[in-house]
Amino acid sequence: MPELPEVEVTRRGIAPHVEGRTVTGVVLRRSGLRWPFPDGLPGLLSGQVVRSTARRGKYLLLRFDHGTLIIHLGMSGHLRVIPVGVPVQKHDHVDIELGAQLVRFTDPRRFGAVLWHPHADGDVEQHLLLRGLGVEPIGCADLAERLVRGTRGRSAAIKQVLLSGDIVVGVGNIYACESLFESGIHPATAAGRISRERYARLARAIQRVLAAAIEQGGSSLRDFIGVDGASGYFQQSYFVYDREGEPCRQCGQPVRRIVQGQRSTFYCARCQR
Ligand SMILES: [Zn+2]
Repeated sequence: MPELPEVEVTRRGIAPHVEGRTVTGVVLRRSGLRWPFPDGLPGLLSGQVVRSTARRGKYLLLRFDHGTLIIHLGMSGHLRVIPVGVPVQKHDHVDIELGAQLVRFTDPRRFGAVLWHPHADGDVEQHLLLRGLGVEPIGCADLAERLVRGTRGRSAAIKQVLLSGDIVVGVGNIYACESLFESGIHPATAAGRISRERYARLARAIQRVLAAAIEQGGSSLRDFIGVDGASGYFQQSYFVYDREGEPCRQCGQPVRRIVQGQRSTFYCARCQR
């Protein structure tokens, strides 16, 4: 599943090909994905200039003068920039044409989304799907303080609180496991009982882990925009994620797996308390 780093790398990959370009056509090959496509989308976008790209959580934003196109990659979606004329495959649902090139949205499981937020409805940050999102972790100077404040009195496990995304976005299953390992915090610890000092360590770990993933993804950027690019999700080497029974890279103890909220959590019982 694409997580924040994949979405950010996708944004960086398509940005030079779409920013400042005029949409020359939109092809929709079905009526919608997770939700129906916006009414009249081809007419809405054709002839309009993509002013900039942005990302909020896992939502990719293409800003136009009259509104913002919101794209979510869902469970299995990806975008590629390809020349016009490349044959369409089974799961290619949307093309946004920009002259000789187009952005193609492929999504085998169809949990993705393409939505339109008109300028007249106000700031896109106020869109129903965006307004409840927590802070962006990268570049957030007071992330530790926000974690402290946001977890006060909460007895839920810190792993669950991170995944919920209401304090900080983008810390999906992989990055929650990895950042909790890096900061030495047991994933089942009640969020409200973690000290300020440990939250400072966790905040630094979240930022470092995500930045490293984006950097690594950036080096495989060609996979995202190539004509025959595969799914493009990058494989990284993890400390604990998906390593049940393998030795902890720090202490050698077998990595453990527990299930929290129907998701697997990987951790080291010696390194994380
Ligand atoms: Zn360990």
